[in-house]
Amino acid sequence: MTDYIYSIEAKNVNKTYKRKNLEVNALENFNIKIKKGSIHGLLGPNGAGKSTFINILGGLVKKNKGNINICGIDIDKNQKLSKFKIGIVPQELNIDPFFTPFELLELQAGLYGIPKKNRKTEEILDNVGLLDNKNAYARTLSGGMRRRLLVAKALVHSPEMLILDEPTAGVDVELRSMLWNYIRDINNQGTTICLTTHYLEEAEKLCENITILDKGQVIKNDSKINLLNIISTKTVSFDFESKQEIPIELLQFNPKVEKNRLTLSYDKSKVSLSSIINILNKHNIVFLEMSTYESNLENVFTKLISSNGNN
Ligand code: ADP
Repeated sequence: MTDYIYSIEAKNVNKTYKRKNLEVNALENFNIKIKKGSIHGLLGPNGAGKSTFINILGGLVKKNKGNINICGIDIDKNQKLSKFKIGIVPQELNIDPFFTPFELLELQAGLYGIPKKNRKTEEILDNVGLLDNKNAYARTLSGGMRRRLLVAKALVHSPEMLILDEPTAGVDVELRSMLWNYIRDINNQGTTICLTTHYLEEAEKLCENITILDKGQVIKNDSKINLLNIISTKTVSFDFESKQEIPIELLQFNPKVEKNRLTLSYDKSKVSLSSIINILNKHNIVFLEMSTYESNLENVFTKLISSNGNN
């Protein structure tokens, strides 16, 4: 087995689509490294180039320039082997309605040349919660079940890396958290995960590292923790029994008063919450409740995308 550090390593990838006399640069000098064993998020607005990159990895779209290694295999030198290393779960629920989940997985295993004795069809169906439906026609499955079936299909050849394109699009809240747990389980068993998502909450929950792309280029590539620290403003609100005079030391924190509530904003990299509380204590101001608010990935994403020349 090839030893490697990055499950995906792409260098200076370019892809231009030509339509009549129109050229679209879908990827321009695109670089990414996805660490083996991680859960990596690929985020970007519509048209950023996410699907193009995934389709290049899957061999459906040909890049114009650049180098890509999948699990240490150069896709230009050994495309067949590199395809064995990854499983891709597409966004569209494109499942033949006349196959049952069992038949579909067996067919897929056959396509990968997996001998019958090495197939894990029932085990995989069980893992995605579809064992009870193994003989049902795919057309009778709900949207959530079809999505799980696509995940199962991508796992048939035990890939070292799983790519999920919008894994929970159109999936209800309950099923979404089940899929998240399942993605974590697959990762815990050693499979590297890359996912694209529109739900920034999803990326925030699952991913250790995140690449944000826009207009075919990487605009940020960092750990989730570092990304969340880009906006260092934190907000704290205190509720009092009655309206309070604001101590002079708190004026620097842009105080806002609404009924018996005082809200302050501060830079968490410079000021600690306890120092604010100490000021209240010094003035013998007793609060009943306190709540804090920190920026989430959505705030950071919006800031980065808008500073890249978008509205
Ligand atoms: P995303 O998945 O981030 O929404 P895409 O990779 O689908 O982005 O698209 C990137 C750009 O490439 C967009 O401007 C899109 O219109 C264009 N594009 C994608 N596929 C094709 C195609 N087959 N022919 C022409 N242009 C395409």
